[in-house]
Parts: sequence; structure tokens; C-alpha cells
Amino acid sequence: ANSAPRAAGPKPAVPGVRAIVAVASGKGGVGKSTTAVNLALALAGRGLRIGLLDADIYGPSLPRLMGLSGRPPARDGRTLEPLTGHGVKVMSIGFLVAEDTPMIWRGPMVQSAIQQMLRDVAWGELDVLVVDMPPGTGDAQLTLAQQVPLAGAVIVSTPQDIALLDARKGLNMFRRVDVPVLGIVENMSYFCCPNCGHRSDIFGHGGARAEAGRLGVDFLGEIPLDIAIRETSDGGTPIVATDPDGAHARAYRAIAETV
Ligand code: ADP
Repeated sequence: ANSAPRAAGPKPAVPGVRAIVAVASGKGGVGKSTTAVNLALALAGRGLRIGLLDADIYGPSLPRLMGLSGRPPARDGRTLEPLTGHGVKVMSIGFLVAEDTPMIWRGPMVQSAIQQMLRDVAWGELDVLVVDMPPGTGDAQLTLAQQVPLAGAVIVSTPQDIALLDARKGLNMFRRVDVPVLGIVENMSYFCCPNCGHRSDIFGHGGARAEAGRLGVDFLGEIPLDIAIRETSDGGTPIVATDPDGAHARAYRAIAETV
């Protein structure tokens, strides 16, 4: 009864898009969008053509994180042009509604919005389309897993049990719909005091690595809790763009190597 329906037959690819990678989490607020954005920029930094799709219909955050606003231009009355920020093409429902307008939509509307953002957007030729998923295991995840061939999913979690529990559910959902899990990233993995250098494991440490081991998936890397990540992320200038030679950018690039 509690099994996700499987897709029937082959899923049509998105023309011009070579691979679609989902960045997902069980819980909200663990840094999934921040990770998706910085991974996308790290991939673009390798010379790859990258798109970033905001599948979080109820809480789109890519416009803010990428420092983008304005309406995507329509091409022929039907196709929307993505906006470009930091060398990455971006589409989000947030470009189409005011920031404080709630999306009061039922599941089928969410499904069709995601379909349109995949297929009615002039993505052009992309090496990787990174999809920032909403948290959890709902309509958006199922639509994506069933309607397009996903190359894989990256799961983001903080180290504490409550986040890992939900991460495990997300991971099992992808497995059930035959989407390869590329691995788990531990975000907010530890905190180093900028004044004294003392390290605190605010949400614990190493939980995601241990969980990856238990679940038989790769551990992709850890990103510390750092005010610079928060400030750059919320300011629309992701850390990979603002401090490309710093330790955080290197960590995101190392994770991007595994994607
Ligand atoms: P999610 O997509 O999981 O809801 P976000 O990426 O929106 O999470 O992050 C939630 C908040 O935490 C944002 O304000 C973001 O700037 C901040 N944040 C995310 N990762 C880090 C980090 N490693 N260090 C500091 N702040 C972070």
C-alpha cells in the first residue's frame, strides 16, 4: 500500500539536457538549496554548461540565493527563457510570483508546474541540470523521478539523528523509484569559532558519514557551519563565486567532482 508507483516505460529526456541531478533532503532548513547552488557553480567552474531548476514550488529560494529577480522573457508565447546568474541558467516559480505571495496549490498543479519548468523552458544545451528539490517525499519528487530520467540524487543532511532519519526516507524513496543515489553530503558539519578557532560540533558530527556507510551509499563530503556561507548565500552571491580559492569553495568543488 505504501509503495510509490513506478514509471511506465522509458521516460522522455529533456531535449538538449545531458544529465539531470536532484539535490534533495528529508528536512527543510538543512542547507539543501545552498548546497545545490554552490554545487551548480562548482560544476560551471569546470567549464560545464549548467542549469539550476527550483522544484520547491511552495518555498522557492533560488532567486534570492542566485541574486536574480525579474520575469523570464517568453519566446514564442509558450517557452520561457531562463535567467542567468553566476554563469548558470536558472528557472524558479519565484520569478513568476511576488516574493510574499503564497503558492496555494494542490498536487496536480505542482506536478504541472514542474513539468513546464522542465519542458517549456529554453534550457538550450546543458551538460547538467541541477534540481533543487523541496524537502520530503511528496508530489514534486515523484513527478521528477517518474517524468524524466534522473542521473542521480545527492542527499543533504545535517549530522543530527532527526535530520538523518528524514534523509533516510528520502534516500529510500529514490531507491524505490529506481533513481541512483549519488551519495550524502553532511552540511553544518561542525563550527569553528572565528575568534578563538575552537571547534564545536553544534549538530553533532559524522552522522551522515556513518549513515552513508550503513545505507551503502557514498559519503560525498562535509561543509561546516560558517557565517560566510550564510551571508553569501542569503546575499545572492554564493561562496563558490565570491571566494573561489577558499576552503569552502574547494569543498564544494570536491563534492562536484563526484557528481
Ligand atoms: P534548505 O534548502 O534545506 O531549506 P537553505 O539552503 O535554504 O536550506 O539553508 C537554510 C539557511 O541556512 C539559510 O539561511 C542558509 O544561508 C543557511 N546555511 C545553509 N548552509 C549553511 C552553512 N554551511 N553554514 C552557514 N549557514 C548555512
